[in-house]
Amino acid sequence: MWQVRVDRNLLDKPIFDNLEVQWGGGVSRARVWYSFASAAPTFLIDAGEYFNRPNIYGYTDDHARFAFFCRACLALFKRLGGTAPDIIHSNDWPGGFAPVELRARRSFDPFYAKTRTVFSIHNLAYQGLFDLGDLWKMDFGELNERNAFLFNGMASALKAGLMTSDVLTTVSPRYALEIQTPDQGYGLDWLLRDRRDHLVGITNGIDDNAWNPETDPHIAAHFNAEDISGKRECKRDLLRRFHLPEELERPVIAIISRLVAQKGYDLIREAVGSILHEGAFFIALGAGAREYEDFLQALHDHAPQRVGIYKGYAGEPLAHQIEAGADIFLMPSLYEPCGLNQMYSMRYGTVPVVRATGGLDDTVENFNRETGEGTGFKFERYAANALLEKIREALYCYNRPEIWKKIQTNGMRQDNSWRVAARKYLDLYQAVMKKSGV
Ligand code: ADP
Repeated sequence: MWQVRVDRNLLDKPIFDNLEVQWGGGVSRARVWYSFASAAPTFLIDAGEYFNRPNIYGYTDDHARFAFFCRACLALFKRLGGTAPDIIHSNDWPGGFAPVELRARRSFDPFYAKTRTVFSIHNLAYQGLFDLGDLWKMDFGELNERNAFLFNGMASALKAGLMTSDVLTTVSPRYALEIQTPDQGYGLDWLLRDRRDHLVGITNGIDDNAWNPETDPHIAAHFNAEDISGKRECKRDLLRRFHLPEELERPVIAIISRLVAQKGYDLIREAVGSILHEGAFFIALGAGAREYEDFLQALHDHAPQRVGIYKGYAGEPLAHQIEAGADIFLMPSLYEPCGLNQMYSMRYGTVPVVRATGGLDDTVENFNRETGEGTGFKFERYAANALLEKIREALYCYNRPEIWKKIQTNGMRQDNSWRVAARKYLDLYQAVMKKSGV
């Protein structure tokens, strides 16, 4: 569970001490802070009762917390005066309360008559389910829009967002198609098929200033596509950090991920014996399910000279050091809405081996030895032997430095920055503003 770290130095000052929010049949109050630290004006809703907790998610009243948050945001726009926002763009089930509320308001609040909504799905598996009875406690009970929440005898904040937003987006084009199938639709594929004309996939970008091997302050040496030699020093540093022997010719195969089934850890568990048998180091950074943490510990205890592990959330520096020092990066995900690490890997000359799903399929091109094109290795079937076959192919190329360098530099020259994605969002926003509401 990611911890909440609030750096109050980044906050300018409270702009409202008493923002009134209609809530639970009465009125609740929140303080609102302003910050320009992210280079875009940012408002922060401060309501201790809901948000002053050590973790972001994982509480039984999460639905009420985020419903309150969305309502407070809508109250804030009005309190700020001026004109209403053109577009409210919210994300995932916690943001699903905003479009449903906005749609209800459009009919009786002229302030929001022209505001349009965009709703982005980052992972359809997280649906924000809660007890139907709570809709009344959150003042949705008497509204027609209440129906948008109904889902298998429960209320779903995700479904409400999907039904009531003007436009839906998800974080890669392939994932936009996959979620329309029963296999990956989590019971909502029918709705997504029905709304497919309003659904687009825009691949996430990476922050290429923070993830730049030429300037990265966390790594032992700098490098770029023209001169990749510094990567060797990063590899030495990585092996030292994980107390592994400095055998620099031996390939380092790494993985950084939440330890959940989605990330393909069952395949890793099956394949890792063969990976070690091929002669590679295996380095894993991850936090999550106990069974996978125990597996990593047992693996390390079995082969401490070849396996390096860090269990828990390590923060950014170690993730950068692994990306810079590893040779091969594994992402054998069962499904992957977008994925970031494959893009970080390519930027750092670390060759990704991925399953052809979601954003992994959209961002990694399988290497073709005949044409010299491609940025990594991709397998289709969710099976350990399919993963192993691609790892073996990668290792074959690793042992041929000219070929390897070609794959590395192909990846390093890709532009996966937010600049590309931002342009697509701008076009989308412009199109949305011309739409009449759903
Ligand atoms: P998801 O969003 O599904 O968790 P992504 O690949 O999109 O997967 O993003 C994961 C991000 O979190 C990456 O930046 C990765 O480096 C980072 N990360 C994941 N687990 C850890 C961990 N245990 N310690 C540090 N960073 C981690």
